[in-house]
Amino acid sequence: MLEDKDRIFTNLYGLQDWRLEAAKQRGAWNGTADLISLGHDWIIQQIKDSGLRGRGGAGFPTGLKWSFMPKEVKGRPHYLVVNADESEPGTCKDREIMRHDPHLFIEGCLIASYAMKANVCYIYLRGEYVDERNNLQAAVDEAYAAGLLGKNAAGSGWDFDLYLHHGAGAYICGEETALLESLEGKKGQPRLKPPFPAGAGLYGCPTTVNNVESIAVAPTILRRGAGWFRKFGRENNHGTKIFSISGHVNRPCNVEEAMSIPLKQLIDVHCGGVKGGWDNLKAIIPGGSSVPCLPKNICDDVLMDFDALRDHRSGLGTAAVIVMDKSTDMVRAIARLAYFYKHESCGQCTPCREGTGWMWRVLERMVVGDSTTEEIDKLLEVSTQIEGHTICALGDAAAWPVQGLIRHFRHEIEERINTYRNDRPHVAVAAAE
Ligand code: NAD
Ligand code: SF4
Repeated sequence: MLEDKDRIFTNLYGLQDWRLEAAKQRGAWNGTADLISLGHDWIIQQIKDSGLRGRGGAGFPTGLKWSFMPKEVKGRPHYLVVNADESEPGTCKDREIMRHDPHLFIEGCLIASYAMKANVCYIYLRGEYVDERNNLQAAVDEAYAAGLLGKNAAGSGWDFDLYLHHGAGAYICGEETALLESLEGKKGQPRLKPPFPAGAGLYGCPTTVNNVESIAVAPTILRRGAGWFRKFGRENNHGTKIFSISGHVNRPCNVEEAMSIPLKQLIDVHCGGVKGGWDNLKAIIPGGSSVPCLPKNICDDVLMDFDALRDHRSGLGTAAVIVMDKSTDMVRAIARLAYFYKHESCGQCTPCREGTGWMWRVLERMVVGDSTTEEIDKLLEVSTQIEGHTICALGDAAAWPVQGLIRHFRHEIEERINTYRNDRPHVAVAAAE
C-alpha cells in the first residue's frame, strides 16, 4: 500500500487549488533549472533507472523511448507530443492530472522536451475534455507569465514553447501515428510502423509521443531519485500508478497506488469493496476495454501489473479496472464493446474494417442465443485472424475482449444457444439436418 507521503499526485481529487502558487507549495517547479542543469543524458538515465513504463497502456519503457531520439539536432527540429486523447473506455486518470495538477504536468513537458532536445511540445487533448483544456490552458498562460515557459524557460537556459491542440472526438486519434496525422491537419488514420516516431514523426521530424501520466511523473522521479520510484512494485513493474476503478464497486474512484498491488486489496481498500461483497464478483476487465476480461477465480489473487496480468493472458493497459458483479450479462457487455470498436475503426485495413462489424453482428445474435456452437469457434477463429494482421493496435483491441469472453465464459454463450433452441424446437431440427 502506498503511503500519502509517496503520492506524486497530491491534488488528484481537486481538493486544493490547481493554480501556480498552490502547485508550487505542493512541490511543482521546485528546482527545475537545477534538474535541467544536470543534462540531457542524466535525465534520460534517471528515467531508465526508475523503471518507468509508459502509462498510456502499452507499457513501453519510457527512458528507452526517450533514448531513441537522435543525440543531436541535425536540420530537423525535435518534438515532444503528449497524448492526452484519453478515450479508452473506463479510463479517466489523465483528465484528473490535467484538471487538478496541470503544473506538475507542464513542468514534466519542459523537462522531457529538454531531455530529448525538443524546443516545442504539443499536447493533443481529447475532444470532449473541455474543462481539462480550460484549466490546462490557464496553467500554461500562468507558466508563460511567470517565465516558466518561453525563452530561457524556468531560468534553465532552454527555450521552450508549449501548445494545446484539441481533438474532435475520434478514438483512433489516440493511436500515436493517427494523432500525428491529425495534428498535421490530416484525417486521423494510423501510419505503418516502422518508422517509429523517433525516426519520422510530426512533419517527418524526430518525435516522441508520451502519455500524460508518463510525463507528469517525471519531475518527481528526478527530484526524489530513480531509486525511490523503483522501490514500488516488483521487478520490471515499478513505481506508482493511477488506477481508474469503475463498475460494480461501492465507491468508484481514481487512486494512485503502488504498482503490483493485489486487485482485491485495491478494490476493498479504495472502493469499499465489490457491491454485494467479493463473492458477488463475476469478472473484471483490468486495463480499459482493450484487454481480455478475467473471471473471479483469477481475480482472487492477481497482482495489478504488466507482467502478472500478461501471465493470465490479459494486460494492465491503462489500469482502468472495470468491475462486473454477478448481475452482469457478459455476452451483452462484450457485444457492446464490439460495437464500440466497429464504430471507431478507421476502415483502413480489411481485417479490422470488416472483422469488427462481423464480430459485433455475431455477438448480437449470441446475446439472445440465436447462434450455433460451431459459430463460437468461427468467432474465435475470425478474432485470431484480425489480431496481429492490422496496421494499428485497434484490431488487437477489438479481438482480445472477444477472445476473453470465449476463453472464460463460453458456457454462457452455449447455455443461451441451448435455451434458444429449446424454446424453438423447429430451429434445433433444422440445425440437426
Ligand atoms: P505499441 O506497443 O505499438 O507502442 C508503444 C510505444 O512504444 C509507442 O510509442 C511506440 O512508438 C513505441 N515502440 C514500440 N516498439 C518500438 C520500437 N521497436 N522502436 C521504437 N519505438 C517503439 O502500442 P500502441 O499501439 O502505442 O498502444 C497500444 C496500447 O494503447 C493498448 O495496449 C491500450 O491499452 C492503449 N490504449 C490507450 C488508450 C488511452 O486512452 N490511454 C486508448 C486506446 C488504447
Ligand atoms: Fe484503422 Fe483498424 Fe487498421 Fe487501425 S487496425 S488502421 S483502426 S482499420
